[in-house]
Amino acid sequence: MSEFFGNIAGNATLRVRLAAEIKSGTFPHAYIIEGQEGSGRRTLARSIAAALSCSNPDRLPCGVCPACRKIFGNKTPDVISVIPEQGRSSIGVEVARQIRRDVIVLPIDFAYKVYIIEEADKMTPEAQNALLLTLEEPPGFAVFLLICRSASDLLLTVRSRAPTVRTEPIASEVIADYLISHDNRAAKLKAEYPGEFAELISAAGGCIGQALSLLDPDKRRPIMERRRLARSFVGILAAPDRSFAERLDIISMFSSRREEITEELRLIADALRDLILLKKTGQAQLVFWSDRAAALEVAGRFSLEELLLLFEQVDTAAGFIGRNANIRLTLTNLVFARTAVIRQ
Ligand SMILES: [Zn+2]
Repeated sequence: MSEFFGNIAGNATLRVRLAAEIKSGTFPHAYIIEGQEGSGRRTLARSIAAALSCSNPDRLPCGVCPACRKIFGNKTPDVISVIPEQGRSSIGVEVARQIRRDVIVLPIDFAYKVYIIEEADKMTPEAQNALLLTLEEPPGFAVFLLICRSASDLLLTVRSRAPTVRTEPIASEVIADYLISHDNRAAKLKAEYPGEFAELISAAGGCIGQALSLLDPDKRRPIMERRRLARSFVGILAAPDRSFAERLDIISMFSSRREEITEELRLIADALRDLILLKKTGQAQLVFWSDRAAALEVAGRFSLEELLLLFEQVDTAAGFIGRNANIRLTLTNLVFARTAVIRQ
C-alpha cells in the first residue's frame, strides 16, 4: 500500500491519485469531496491541505514537518474551515461574499491557502452562485475543498467547476485494524467481547468515524439493542414452530416511538436482504450480519421465495408505520407473516 495519505484508512486509489496530482503540480483549484458522514471526508480535506505544503514529498502528508504540524494542529490562518454560522442551518450568501473578499489576500505561513467548506450542501443557492467566479478563477495559491454527502446536492454550475472525489466505505478488516491501533478501548472490547466488537464493525457501515463513535458504550448500547431485535425477529420468522406467546413477546421489544420503529424495521429489512443475497450468491458482501456462518444457517431455514416475500412485507410495514398506520396491528401482522406465507 502507498505511503501517501497514510493517515487515511482504505481509499488506496484515491490516495495515490491525489498525491500524484500534488507532486506534479496538477492539483485542481477545487475539489468536491462526497461521501457518507463519518467516512473520513474532513480528515481527507485537512490531509490534502497539509500535503499541499508538506516538505516530505515521499510521504505526503508526513505529519511531522512544520507545515503538517501546524495544519493538523489547526494553528495556521492559511487553512480556513467554513461551517454554518452559529444558530444557522445553512451557509448563506454573506459567508460566500466574505470568502470572495478574503481569497485575494496572500497566505501567511505557506504557499497555499485552503478553504474547507464543510457541509457544502448547506450553502444556499445564492451562496453557491456568489462563489462561482471564485471557483472558476481563484488566485493561484487558493484551493477549495467542498465537503458534502452527494455532489448532486450542489448546483450544476458548481459541479461543472470542480471535479468530485468520493470517500469509499472501508473494508471491515481495515476498520478493525484502524480502531485497534488508534483507540485502546477497541482492543479491550475485542478481547473481552469479540462478538460485540464484530457487531460494532458491522454497524459502522464502512465509516471509520462511526466506528470510533461506537467505541463509546453509551452510543453503542441503543445500536446493539436494535441489532439484537432485528436478529431475534428474523429468528422468530425462521422458526415456524414458535408459540403464539413468543411471537407476541417480540413485539414488546420494539420501540414505542414511530420513527424508531421505522428504523428498526429498516434494519430487519437489511438483515433479510443479506439472506436473499446469500441465497442467490454465496459470495455476497453482508451489510447486517457480522457472523457469516450464523447468517448462512438462518438463510437455510427459508426458501428464496419466502425471503423475497418477507422482505417486501417488512419494507411495506416500515412505509405504513411511517404513514401513521396502527403500530401494534402492523407489527402483529408481520410477526405472523411467515405462517401466512406457508399456508398460502
Ligand atoms: Zn509534512
